[in-house]
Amino acid sequence: MIDNELAALYQDIIIDHNRSPRNFGELPPPRHKAEGYNPLCGDRLTVYLTLDGDRITDVKFDGSGCAISVASASLMTDALKGKTVAEAETLFTRMHALLTGTDAPAAEGEVELGKLEALGGVRAYPSRVKCATLAWHTLQSALHDDPEPVTTE
Ligand code: ZN
Repeated sequence: MIDNELAALYQDIIIDHNRSPRNFGELPPPRHKAEGYNPLCGDRLTVYLTLDGDRITDVKFDGSGCAISVASASLMTDALKGKTVAEAETLFTRMHALLTGTDAPAAEGEVELGKLEALGGVRAYPSRVKCATLAWHTLQSALHDDPEPVTTE
């Protein structure tokens, strides 16, 4: 597949997840919850998740933001269901590396990014990287029950 076709495919995934966000809505208590805000763009997201032991049994998000922030949250929630907390942390590390253009540690290669690779294109647009990382930082906060809202600043 040539680069242009790859770019078009990734674009389609982002457009699709922005138009039809997966797992959009609120999870009823008891659940973990965290709020995130990206002041550079105005994106506001809330991430909800339920755990059974150390496994993520359900995860949802709501809020509003630009196409990148919504697509990132939608793709993230799809990827996280059924994962352990440790796997979620590994995904966070790999996504952060993908989005910021740094190399992920080789030892963490066992978690497949799959469709999340679509978000790698934002690397070329530094002002949009925080749109894509917002959901992930908010996830971290939800996993750790951090009561303070997350801000990307
Ligand atoms: Zn944004």
